Amino acid sequence: MEVKGKNNIRHLLVIETLEGKINRESLETLGFALSFHDKIDDCALLIAGAEITESAASLAEDRGLDVVVFDDSRFRYPNGDLLAAALVETIKKYNVASVVLLHTITGVHAASRAAATAGMACITAVESVIREGESTVFQRCLQYGKIRASIELQEDKFILTVLTGSFAAPEPGDFRKKPGTVYDEKTGRSASYSPRSVERAESSRSLEEAEVIVSAGRGIGKEENLEMIRDVAKIFSRSAVGSSRPLCDLGWLPYGHQVGSTGKTVSPKLYMACGISGASQHLAGMKSSQIIVAVNRDPNAAIFSVADYGVVEDLTVFLPLLADKYREGNWLKK
Ligand code: FAD
Repeated sequence: MEVKGKNNIRHLLVIETLEGKINRESLETLGFALSFHDKIDDCALLIAGAEITESAASLAEDRGLDVVVFDDSRFRYPNGDLLAAALVETIKKYNVASVVLLHTITGVHAASRAAATAGMACITAVESVIREGESTVFQRCLQYGKIRASIELQEDKFILTVLTGSFAAPEPGDFRKKPGTVYDEKTGRSASYSPRSVERAESSRSLEEAEVIVSAGRGIGKEENLEMIRDVAKIFSRSAVGSSRPLCDLGWLPYGHQVGSTGKTVSPKLYMACGISGASQHLAGMKSSQIIVAVNRDPNAAIFSVADYGVVEDLTVFLPLLADKYREGNWLKK
């Protein structure tokens, strides 16, 4: 393995890690790079993790890209603050013009802080990019997906976060064959906080195994109303709580619960979509369910186009009634 110094990197793609393992999803930043940059050879990866040099070296070999590595036990768990420090040091040292991270909580934290410190433009949650002559336009959603914004970049130096699922992670064959070089770095900055541990979301496995999934969408209105969803899920023995993406983006449920094109693909015996409009990205993850029940107060909601049974009602009225009826033991006996 070659570990040495370097003078210039034009584009930096950040790969996240957890407990010394590379987060494969963040290889989607390479997908962005392939669709955006003229030459992928101008790109290098930045990997910050604990005992990560070996994995970084094998990625450098696989993908034929140079890799800047911060191998430091303080990166065992995601730390956006420390990642921002590593980014700023790398940007300055290697004259980096652009940085791309995945749109995760850590990615957004690091991107915004690094951009402010390094004086670079910052655009988050990018879904697509359009080249219009000399101009570059990034597209992203606003107001929880109700508005699509096109944002023209005015600066040469910028940091982006890209939405998961927007740019497919490329195969190793899409890169040059010559192995990249590993550049070993250290950050001298102390972190303002240190994550002590992480716990994996309980449901990530059970969603695929569940026979019944009761899924919540933005129509639940507020986080507390998730209790109604959980109450209904408890009616069934092999059940799990699913959700549409906005609820995970809001942090109301971990991403392990998300059903859809960038979440889990499920096909339970029964799928109950509560307050979910039926966007194509959600349908992609659940439309092969055996029976679909949709609860939505809008009779024209797209979810009804795939539903076997539709309940046009306010879910805050219908779901508690359903759970109460079950508790009374009436409806199962009839
Ligand atoms: P909304 O579209 O806001 O719908 C809320 C629904 O609730 C409405 O139909 C409304 O009539 C109903 N409602 C409101 N109040 C009540 C009430 N009191 N009682 C009953 N009904 C009510 N989305 C996913 O789900 N999964 C994905 O994997 C996914 N991946 C994506 C990937 C990309 C690249 C992009 C761009 C988007 C992705 N999305 C994904 C987002 C998707 O486009 C939609 O924005 C999202 O699915 C909408 O979620 P929703 O149906 O919960 O919210």
